[in-house]
Amino acid sequence: MKKHTSRAAAALATAALCATLLGACGGNQGQGSATDSAGTDAATEEKQDTATDTDDTAAKESNIDYMVLVNKTHKLPAGWEDAIEIVHFTNSEGWDVDVEAKAYDAYLELKDDLEADGVYVDLDSAYRSVEAQQEIVDDFTEKYGAEYVKQYVAVPGYSEHHTGLALDLFLIIDGKGVYLNEDMVTYPEVWDKIHAKLADHGFILRYLPEKKIETGYSYEPWHIRYIGDTEVARKIMDEGITFERYLGELDPSIADCTVDYGTSELYTEADIDSALDVVLAEFGTWDGCTLKKIAFMGDEACNADELAYVNELREAQMPDEAEFDQALVLTSEFHSPSAEQAENTAWEPDTDYRDWTWHLGRTGADGSWKLLTWGFD
Ligand SMILES: [Zn+2]
Repeated sequence: MKKHTSRAAAALATAALCATLLGACGGNQGQGSATDSAGTDAATEEKQDTATDTDDTAAKESNIDYMVLVNKTHKLPAGWEDAIEIVHFTNSEGWDVDVEAKAYDAYLELKDDLEADGVYVDLDSAYRSVEAQQEIVDDFTEKYGAEYVKQYVAVPGYSEHHTGLALDLFLIIDGKGVYLNEDMVTYPEVWDKIHAKLADHGFILRYLPEKKIETGYSYEPWHIRYIGDTEVARKIMDEGITFERYLGELDPSIADCTVDYGTSELYTEADIDSALDVVLAEFGTWDGCTLKKIAFMGDEACNADELAYVNELREAQMPDEAEFDQALVLTSEFHSPSAEQAENTAWEPDTDYRDWTWHLGRTGADGSWKLLTWGFD
């Protein structure tokens, strides 16, 4: 593949301008960047690619497994970046975008298909090198701190965008680009139309609603993934399952777990997801236990009494922490390991534990949840 150090630098510069939450895509959302010298490089190179292609079409074949899984626990395979063929293009906003060659062809077909139905999309970003991701991490750590980076920026080597097969779309509504996450989510009916056509072109929706426990990410309607095989894509989309589940790559401790988000006036799905993260980090250390069910206890459970309770615990456990103004309670059901599975276990062996609650508090809607206590109430 072709690599431009200057492009990585440009991506970094534009990413640094962006103060929106990053999610899985973590980089170029709404970059609106200037076309700079790096852009010129890309354009020149693309011409060369095209010229080569007329002599040898095989030049645009990537030697890769299109069904590859890259997520927070599955690293980009070694040698990947040397094996992929990247296409460079400039989108309607004038931003440079890099995409894997076959995924790009499929995207163009999808785009045509959508336009026939009056839906207009464009590509925000797709391929991002491990090197560019490292630069984003370094820059954001300096600007926003390690905690922020841990929460919002993918670890280099563990972003699906490294594959070149993950594409972030943006919408064009009444001729204008809509590319900020918070604006894009206000068009659910447009995304429904887009998602309905993905499988026909070998794409799947990667980060489904209410499936963070499986994918590691909250819902992202714009992040689509090319897997090549339209039949497999159709099966995944029809069944509404995650790519992890289709591949049988779920962590056994959560593979059979259902998550109930309930309804809330207080918290968004993303708020509950971030609380879930904290709980799962603790649960993950419980050797041999399998989570069966986890549910948001509802707004009533997060009342003033609960807030006073978690603040009391905060005072005792983490006195340096600012006073919480939000409380959240989850309830769960899990199964303990058998006596053979885990020696010296504190659990009653091979038993279902029900109504096991988790109490969390935080300061401000942007604060990170702190887990204060868990157990039978
Ligand atoms: Zn993305």
